[in-house]
Amino acid sequence: MSVSRILQQKGGDIVTISPRATLSEAVERLARHHIGAIVIVDEHMAVEGIISERDVVRLLGERGTEALSAPLDTVMTRAVVTCTGEETVPMIMERMTRGRFRHVPVVNGDRLVGIISIGDVVKYRVEEMEREHAELREYIMSA
Ligand code: AMP
Repeated sequence: MSVSRILQQKGGDIVTISPRATLSEAVERLARHHIGAIVIVDEHMAVEGIISERDVVRLLGERGTEALSAPLDTVMTRAVVTCTGEETVPMIMERMTRGRFRHVPVVNGDRLVGIISIGDVVKYRVEEMEREHAELREYIMSA
C-alpha cells in the first residue's frame, strides 16, 4: 500500500508549528492533538525541522524547565528524513528502523502534505496480516 493511500484513510489536518514558536507552545500542541511529534514548517509549508516527545523529555532532562522558553529553531531536529506519497509501507518501515525514529513527514516537492507515524504503519501491517490470515483460512476450508 502506498503512503498516499494511508494519508487518504487517515484524513484530518496536518499539525504544524512555526520555527519561531517556543518549546512550550509545541508541548501544548502535542498535548491538544494527542500526537507524538510536530513538524516545523515555514510560511510555504516547507519542512524546516521536527520535534518529538523524546526531544522534549531530553531537553527537560538536560536544561530543566528553562528549555520550555527556547525557540523551536534552536532545539528542533533539522536533518529531517521525509518520504513521498508514492512510496510504500515497507520502505517507510525500513527508514524508521534505520533512523530509529517513529515519524516520517510526507512531502510533495517542497510542500508538507502529511505525516506517517509508527502507529499508522503498525495498523496497516496488522490489517494486512489479518487479511492474509482470512484468505488462507478460506483457502484451507475450500480445499
Ligand atoms: P521519535 O521516535 O519520532 O519520537 O523521534 C526520535 C528522535 O528522532 C527525535 O530526536 C526526533 O526529533 C527525531 N526524528 C523524528 N522523526 C524524524 C525524521 N523523520 N527525520 C529525522 N529525525 C527525526
